[in-house]
Amino acid sequence: MQKYKHSVSLDVEKCKGCTTCLKRCPTEAIRIRDAHAKINPARCIDCGECIKVCPHKAKRAVHDTLADMKEYKITVALPAPALYGQFDNLTSIDYVVDGLYKLGFDYVYEVACAAEIVSAYTRTYLSRPDIIKPVISSACPAVVRMINMNFPYLKDHIMPILPPVEVAAKNARDIVRERHPEVDSSDIGIFFISPCPAKVSYVKNGFAGNRNNIDRVISVRDVYFELLDVMSRTENPTESAKSGMIGIGWASTGGESSAVFNDKYLAADGIENCVRVLEQIENEGFSGLEFIELNACNGGCVGGAMTVTNAYIAQARLNSLKRYLPVSPNRPDTSEIPDFMFTDENVVYDTTEPLSDDRATAMRMMGDIERITKTLPGIDCGSCGAPTCMAFAEDIVKNETNADECTIIMRELFHESLDLRKAVSEKLAGSTNSTNKNNAAK
Ligand code: SF4
Ligand code: SF4
Repeated sequence: MQKYKHSVSLDVEKCKGCTTCLKRCPTEAIRIRDAHAKINPARCIDCGECIKVCPHKAKRAVHDTLADMKEYKITVALPAPALYGQFDNLTSIDYVVDGLYKLGFDYVYEVACAAEIVSAYTRTYLSRPDIIKPVISSACPAVVRMINMNFPYLKDHIMPILPPVEVAAKNARDIVRERHPEVDSSDIGIFFISPCPAKVSYVKNGFAGNRNNIDRVISVRDVYFELLDVMSRTENPTESAKSGMIGIGWASTGGESSAVFNDKYLAADGIENCVRVLEQIENEGFSGLEFIELNACNGGCVGGAMTVTNAYIAQARLNSLKRYLPVSPNRPDTSEIPDFMFTDENVVYDTTEPLSDDRATAMRMMGDIERITKTLPGIDCGSCGAPTCMAFAEDIVKNETNADECTIIMRELFHESLDLRKAVSEKLAGSTNSTNKNNAAK
C-alpha cells in the first residue's frame, strides 16, 4: 500500500510541548510525548490548523519552491484565487498575473478560470435526477479526507467532478503541448500556487488518479514576497487576467455555493463547524438542501495556513476586486459533462486505523477504553499528552502510554499519600505522647 505523504511537519527543536496544537487538532492526531508534539500520520488530514495556532512556529508546511522552475524547459503558474486577496491596494488582477510572467513563468493559467468551468458543470450535475443529495463539494481536500476518515457513509455525497486546480492543470498542459509539440511533456512544469497544506497533500498523493497534471506545489506566501518587489516596479501591467467574479469568489466561503445559482445550499467554514454539519447530515440528513460547501479554514481558502493576510481582510479585498470583473467569462458548453471532468472512481484515501484486525480483540479493547475512561477525571485537560480523557484511555489500551501520565490522578494519589503519612504521623505522635505521659506518671 502506498504510504500517505503529509505536508505538515514538526520542527522538534522549536516545539515546547505546550499542548496548544493538541487541543486544536480536529482529528486528535497529535500527542505530546517526551515533552514534544508528535503527529499520528494515519489521523492527520493536513488541515494546517496546528501551523496556524502554534505560538512557537514549530509546525510548518513542506512544499516546493520557485527555484524548482529551473528543472523544466517550460513552466506554467496556476495561481489560486486566494493569491489575489493578499495584496493591499490592488486595483487589478493583471498586476499579479503580469508579475508571475516577470518571475519567469512562461504561461499563467488562473485556477479561478477553471473554477468557473467547474461551477458551470456543477449546475449541470445538480440538475441530474440520478444523484445523491445533498452533494458535498470536493474542493477542500481536508474536508474530503475528514469524510473518508470519520464519515464513511457520506462518501457517496462527495462531488465527483474534478476540483478547479486539477481542471486548470489539465487545460494548461493541453495548451502548452499544442503550442510546443517539440517539447516533451516531462519538460513542462506545472506549478500550483497553493494557499494551504491540504492541497499540497492532495497533489503529492496523486488524488487525481493517473491524470495528475500538477508537477510542483509552491506556497502563496513564498510567491507573495517575490511578487511584491516585481509588482511595485510595474506601472502598466499587460492585460492578461482572464477570470471573472465567479472564479475569484471561490477563494472565500460562499463563493462556490453562490455560483451554483440554487438557493438550496449551505456554506460553512472552520473545521469544527464542518464536522458539526457532517455529523448532522450523517445523523439526521438535511432535507431540502442540494449543495453543501465546506471549507476547513475560517473564511475559506483565503484563510489557508500558507497565506499571508488575515482571511477577512483578504476577503474584503477580493470583494472590491470582483466589482469590476465580468461575471463568468469562462463558460463551457454544459449540455453534457465530458468524461475527463469526473474523478477516477478508484481514488480513495487510505484512512483505516483499526484498534485490532481481529474483531473480537477490537471489541474487547473498546470495552477497556470505555471502562478506563470512566475512571479518569473527565476534564480533557491535555496534561497527559492526549487531547481528551477518552483518547488517553485509548492510548493506554494500545500500550502507547501509561496511566501514570495523568497528572490529575497522580496529584490525587500524591495528596492521598500525604494525608496518609500525616494521619500515620499524627497517630504515631499521639501514641508517643500518651506513652510519654504514662511514663511521666509512673
Ligand atoms: S503548539 Fe504544538 S508544536 Fe507548537 S510548541 Fe506547542 S506542543 Fe509544540
Ligand atoms: S494538520 Fe490538522 S489534522 Fe494534522 S496534526 Fe495539524 S491540526 Fe491535526
